[in-house]
Amino acid sequence: APQPVDSLVDVLIVGAGPAGLMAATWMSRCGIKTRIVDKRSTKIFTGQADGLQCRTLEIFDSFGFADKVWRDSNHMLEICLWNPDENGKLRRSDRIPDTIPGISRFQQVVLHQGRIERFFLDSLKEHSDISVERGVLPETLEIEDASPKDREAYPVKVTLRYLSEEEATPATAHSTTKNGTVQSGLFRSNLTADDTEELLKAARTSPRSGSTEVVRAKYVIGCDGAHSWVRRQLGFNMEGEQTDYIWGVLDIIPITDFPDIRMRCAIHSESSGSVMVIPREEKLVRLYIQLTTTEKGGGQDRSKITPDMILKSAQKIMAPYKIDYEHCSWWTAYQIGQRVGSNFSKNERVFLAGDAVHTHSPKAGQGMNVSMQDTYNLGWKIANVVNGIADPAILKTYQSERRRIAQDLIAFDHRFSRLFSGRPAKDVMDEAGISMKEFKEAFEKGNRFASGTAVDYGSSVIVAKPGDAASQGDGTDVATTHDRVIGKQSLSSVIQLGMRMPSFKVLNQADARPWHFQELLKSDGRWRLVVFAGAVKQPEQAARIKILGAALSDPKSFIHRFTPADAPIDSVIEVLTIHSSPRWDVELLEDFPDIFHPFKKDLGWDYWKVYVDDNSYHEGHGQAYKNYDVDPVRGCMVVLRPDQYVSWIGELEDVGDMDKFFSGFMQERC
Ligand code: FAD
Repeated sequence: APQPVDSLVDVLIVGAGPAGLMAATWMSRCGIKTRIVDKRSTKIFTGQADGLQCRTLEIFDSFGFADKVWRDSNHMLEICLWNPDENGKLRRSDRIPDTIPGISRFQQVVLHQGRIERFFLDSLKEHSDISVERGVLPETLEIEDASPKDREAYPVKVTLRYLSEEEATPATAHSTTKNGTVQSGLFRSNLTADDTEELLKAARTSPRSGSTEVVRAKYVIGCDGAHSWVRRQLGFNMEGEQTDYIWGVLDIIPITDFPDIRMRCAIHSESSGSVMVIPREEKLVRLYIQLTTTEKGGGQDRSKITPDMILKSAQKIMAPYKIDYEHCSWWTAYQIGQRVGSNFSKNERVFLAGDAVHTHSPKAGQGMNVSMQDTYNLGWKIANVVNGIADPAILKTYQSERRRIAQDLIAFDHRFSRLFSGRPAKDVMDEAGISMKEFKEAFEKGNRFASGTAVDYGSSVIVAKPGDAASQGDGTDVATTHDRVIGKQSLSSVIQLGMRMPSFKVLNQADARPWHFQELLKSDGRWRLVVFAGAVKQPEQAARIKILGAALSDPKSFIHRFTPADAPIDSVIEVLTIHSSPRWDVELLEDFPDIFHPFKKDLGWDYWKVYVDDNSYHEGHGQAYKNYDVDPVRGCMVVLRPDQYVSWIGELEDVGDMDKFFSGFMQERC
């Protein structure tokens, strides 16, 4: 007999790690009916990943919780490289900045994953009724035939099973060290066999077995980690390296005479291996040590890996300096291969994100960042489709954009791993050794990549840059056949099509308060048209602004066509303006047509839309036009996606092109 349909949901997220929580956060901000389930009853309280790139902090800021992370985290400013001198004695050979100065208003910080997940959980609570359903996991998943265009279909059918508290609580969440019991990450480690099937089997036969429920979803996102059950249901593989590295990780308050213990350090010993030192919050320091290399499935005896063993390796590498501890807060060991999923989505109905589609070493602190950025890329797209703003065709860009990032990450990690794990070269003739010069250069070059700001999405329906889908290397048909518009990259060398909008300070025209421009780009699902209005007090430019205002306000303009008749005019596409005339010379209401500061019946004029590139009273001059490399007289226009990536750039007259760009994927609403 057909099973009863128990519930309908727009989006079902499987797994509440960083990737799943980021997806849920988008849904909470865009009002999407969402459920998120996790097989575990426990949250992570400590340990696991910890490094946050500056791009991740920019993203957190767009959701409004970067300030908390910034305050609680340890800030990493300098990297020290240590290696043996000609007499074999360990010495500091170099210092480099941890984050390249000037690439972001944030720098890299560290804070443990449990705290980061807590910020997400608090934010979900504040903005929605979405909460993580723990001790719940999917048992079956079927995708029924449905046109990708059918917005009313719920083609993904998932049976969820509810576990008892006991079943959902991992047995090995604690272990003993020389000074008592600490949380061990081994229960989440991939050195421990995946327990999903076992959990399901036990739950089915348990006399106290929980119930099941059938959920029908429009979209499912599998964020269920490296062993991904969802990925296995879809029959997708992980492709990549055969060699797996095993890493030991120890979080301690160190007692040491090593001088750089509060710096991020890469220490290469002459012949005992290498250690990465990561200074943490609350006096903690994390040591990462690569323990062994095994062939895939090479049966590493996990019981031999203990906190003591990890410490002893560190002591050997760091000699003659001494290192010990009285307090250990967490430790783990985990095994990684450098792999990328063959596919990131099935029928654009079920998606995979995070560790479910890429795994690699922890050295560059990328795992959690790239995982969150996967769903940061996907979340708004699904929300825009569910909310009727965009055509489902935009969902194809998830795979074309993120799979390439995952491939770049693996290539980066591969290069970096070899340099990190090798023995230092004794001299220039020692070809088997690693040249420290090469290591330093790789570190410096890797820094931009590792900051997350180098992401450059390819050409597609939502990125109007030259090139076609074929150049994306994965055969995804993204650039549709319609006559595509190409943005005018020549209008700025800094605002790059496909990259995130950089940030410089501007002042609010109405109240003179300085803002970093990125602070205005909140993650709420809206698209943005940034008008660099130029020298609006010059008559010729004033005339151009008037003409632009009239074109945008026209009832047939794209803004009107794509905004529901009963919704505020800035609810789908928000117009933000930066002009370059002196602030004192400009009157907001006189010099700018209404569309630049729309009037709402109950709220009056909107004073938070027009900004100026001028001197502030207390924070200097942001020099936004100079820094953005935009003509200070003529300006230009920029279209930003809801995730702050640049879609299109053109002249103030190019309203027709912009209309054509939006018409390529947006839905007419009235
Ligand atoms: P995860 O964080 O793995 O989250 C997956 C979630 O899905 C989990 O909550 C899990 O309980 C749940 N889940 C799994 N299967 C199911 C299922 N069938 N049904 C329902 N729920 C399910 N990275 C670093 O950068 N530095 C580190 O030191 C570091 N240490 C790590 C230590 C360990 C033990 C592990 C496992 C990973 C570590 N990583 C580290 C990697 C980093 O934690 C991950 O890259 C990051 O957490 C990926 O996020 P995610 O959301 O994709 O997956």
